[in-house]
Amino acid sequence: MQFRDLKQQYQVLKAGIDKAIRDVAASGAYIMGPQVKELERELAGYVGTRHCISCASGTDALTLALKAWDVKQGDAVFVPDFTFFSSAEAVSLEGATPVFVDVDRDTFNIDPADLENKIEATIRKGESVPKVIIAVDLFGLPANYPAICRIADNHGLLILEDGAQGFGGCANGKRSCSFGDISTTSFFPSKPLGCYGDGGACFTDNDEWATLMDSYRMHGKGSSKYENIRIGMNSRLDTIQASILQVKLRAFAGELAAVNKAAAEYTTRLADIVETPVVPDGFLSNWAQYTIKLNSKTERDKLQAYLKGQGIPSTVYYPSPIHRQIAYRNSGLPESDCPVAGNLCDTVLSLPIHPYISLEEINEVCNAVKTFLASRKRIKWGGTPINGINR
Ligand SMILES: *Cc1c(COP(=O)(O)O)cnc(C)c1O
Repeated sequence: MQFRDLKQQYQVLKAGIDKAIRDVAASGAYIMGPQVKELERELAGYVGTRHCISCASGTDALTLALKAWDVKQGDAVFVPDFTFFSSAEAVSLEGATPVFVDVDRDTFNIDPADLENKIEATIRKGESVPKVIIAVDLFGLPANYPAICRIADNHGLLILEDGAQGFGGCANGKRSCSFGDISTTSFFPSKPLGCYGDGGACFTDNDEWATLMDSYRMHGKGSSKYENIRIGMNSRLDTIQASILQVKLRAFAGELAAVNKAAAEYTTRLADIVETPVVPDGFLSNWAQYTIKLNSKTERDKLQAYLKGQGIPSTVYYPSPIHRQIAYRNSGLPESDCPVAGNLCDTVLSLPIHPYISLEEINEVCNAVKTFLASRKRIKWGGTPINGINR
C-alpha cells in the first residue's frame, strides 16, 4: 500500500501527461514557455484571484510575498508552531522575526485567541514591529479566516495564506489560495496539486504586489529581462512542470470529490474508536492528510509500528513544533509557549489517503487500527472495550 499513490495517478493520466511533456520537449521553450502563462491564467481562474505568479517552489512563493511587502529585520511575522518548517524559514531568511502561535486542537490551524495574545505581547515587548500573519491551511483545511481577518484589521497587519497544502479547499464558497492579501501554494509532487519536481505559485488581487513578485522571481527585472531594478531571485516554474500541472488541473475536480469520499469512509469506520479529523460547517478539505489523534505518544508510536508490521504506511506530521527545531532552539521561547502544538506532535498520525485509494485499502487500514486499539484496551484493563472507545 502507498501512503500517497502518485504512480497510480500517473497511470490514469498517462496519455495526457506524456503528450504534454513531449510537446514541451519538441517546442524548445523550456523556460517561461506559453504553458506557464496559460497555467497561471487557469490557476487564477480556479482560485478566484486577479493574479497568479508561478515560481520554483512553495518556499520561494512565501519568500516572494515577503519581499513584495519588504518584510525585513525588525518586523514580526506570526506563524503557527504546528506546520512545515518553511512557513517560518522564509520569514527568518528575510531577517524578520517569526513569532510562534499555538494552534486549535480540532482543526490543527492557527488559534485566533493565541494569535491575539502573541500580537499584544509582541507590541508590549517592543523589540519587533508586527507586520504579517502567516495562516497555514494545514492538511488541506482552510484556516479560520473570518477571525484572522478581524485580528489583522484591528492591528493593521497583512495576511499571507500559506496554502501549500490547501489548494482545492473551500470555506463558505471561497477557495483556498484566495484568502490572503497574498496567498501561496506548492506543487511539490505529494501536495494536492503536484508536479514532477519542485514548483509553486503566489496569488493576489493586488496589481502592484503582482508586478513586484513577477520582478523578484526573475532577477528583479524591470521593463525587460536585462534591465534589473532590484535584487531578486531565479525562481521560475519550468514549462514542463506547467504543462504537467495543466493536465492534472483538468482532473482535479474529480480527484477532490474522490478524496472527500475516501475521507468520509475513514471517518465512518473510525469515529467511534479514535479521534478523527474535524471539518467545521461550511468548510471543505482537500485531505492533503487524514490525521487521527491518539491518547499518548506511546500509543501513537506503537500504533505506527503495528501498522508498519501490517505493511501499512503512516506518517507523523509533524514530530516537532517549529520552535523546538534545532534551528530555532535559541529563540528563547519557554516550552509552555504553544502547548497544543507540542501535544499534537506527540499524538497525531496521518493515514494513507489519496484520490485513488480503494475501499479495500481503507478497510485494511481501519481494521488494523481497530485491532490494535482493541488489543491495547485488553492489555490495559483486561476487559472488553467500554462503548467500543479505547482511550
Ligand atoms: C510543502 C510546504 C511548504 C513548502 O513547499 P515547497 O514547494 O516544498 O517549498 C510550505 N508550507 C507548507 C505548509 C508546506 O506543507
